[in-house]
Amino acid sequence: MFDLSSIERFEQIATPFYYYDMELLDRTLDTLVELSGKYGVRVHYAVKANVERRILQKISARGLGADCVSGNEVARAIECGFPPEKIVFAGVGKSDREIYGALTAGIEAFNCESLHEIYVINAMASMYGLRARVAVRINPNIDAHTHKYVTTGLFENKFGIASHEFDDLVSLIGRCGSIDFTGLHFHIGSQIAEVSDVFSLEARRVSEIVSYFEDKGLTVNEVDFGGGLGVDYDDPDSGSVAPFETWFRAITENFPPRPGRHIHLEPGRSVVAQCGSLITRVLFVKSGETKNFLILDAGMNDLIRPALYGAYHKIENLSARFRPSFSEMQAYDVVGPVCESSDVWGQGRVLPLSVRGDIMAIRSAGAYGQVMASRYNLKDFAPAVFSDTPWDAPAYVDYFASGHAERV
Ligand SMILES: *Cc1c(COP(=O)(O)O)cnc(C)c1O
Repeated sequence: MFDLSSIERFEQIATPFYYYDMELLDRTLDTLVELSGKYGVRVHYAVKANVERRILQKISARGLGADCVSGNEVARAIECGFPPEKIVFAGVGKSDREIYGALTAGIEAFNCESLHEIYVINAMASMYGLRARVAVRINPNIDAHTHKYVTTGLFENKFGIASHEFDDLVSLIGRCGSIDFTGLHFHIGSQIAEVSDVFSLEARRVSEIVSYFEDKGLTVNEVDFGGGLGVDYDDPDSGSVAPFETWFRAITENFPPRPGRHIHLEPGRSVVAQCGSLITRVLFVKSGETKNFLILDAGMNDLIRPALYGAYHKIENLSARFRPSFSEMQAYDVVGPVCESSDVWGQGRVLPLSVRGDIMAIRSAGAYGQVMASRYNLKDFAPAVFSDTPWDAPAYVDYFASGHAERV
């Protein structure tokens, strides 16, 4: 975690910024690599969770593959050391340009999400005299028991191919001369907390679907269960490494192995969420009619998850402990500066008595944080700072007595 005691005059560092604890990322990757060997699963990091080059390079160096959802992600993954033959490419709306780029790069597989897409990829491969490896994303109609915006495996969602098209799918694959069918792909949602129950159910359902297609004469060698493993947002310190083993076990115990068949997984959030924090400062303390507000300099433009999903992030005051009054606590509504009422970090959060200039951490911000940042309100992008890289902290420019100015 970000440690202010190692920084001289921390009151003056420029905020907000994303801080990445690379030692924690290493420990997470150690666990993931060890367990993927133990359970014989192939792991593709879901690049969309965090696309910082330093992070991608660290992950590719450990031999993991990549799961991409755009042409630019495929290009970024290759740039950062992922071999094309370990890159899979999903997404319901791949453009011709994106398909062409991935075809010529020679990726491991297109995870196709509609019959129409398979048809187009086959036509393009044929036109350019190339072959496309294709896996088909199936919608297994499983409730992941997570937020409705991050549920992807129900029939009401736009993802994957549903059962009423299975027969047409088999016949289409038979007619496509420029594709090599590799297997089936699934991804039922994100931030899944009931790991054992949901993934055991997914594995059993997948096993039935695989049998269905094999009965129809297709050989399903690659079975990709997607990502979705949840992390502990309430307690990022004791839950710093996600429960990868519970996940791997739920799947491998409920999906019978077969020679020549490989299980693939695509964790995103569970790899990078806990290593990132958004570091921000208190600009103002305001007493409202019924509550106290802490107004931070980071907002929904930097990290949209609370505004978009009502997501919970733990908030810590990192600098209060350097004051004698540290033990005093107070409830605050912690908000950002953006002109939207949804720009709220948390309501009724009990924190040490906080003052202008305090440095705060929004925890578990490594996944779906920096990648979703925008310049709404023409705010600047928060830069990334890495724990293993010397950092010349830029100074916070204030025009008033900085630091711990007393409350008015
Ligand atoms: C987003 C996504 C993932 C990663 O999901 P996490 O919840 O971050 O693990 C994996 N596969 C596909 C196809 C995705 O779209």
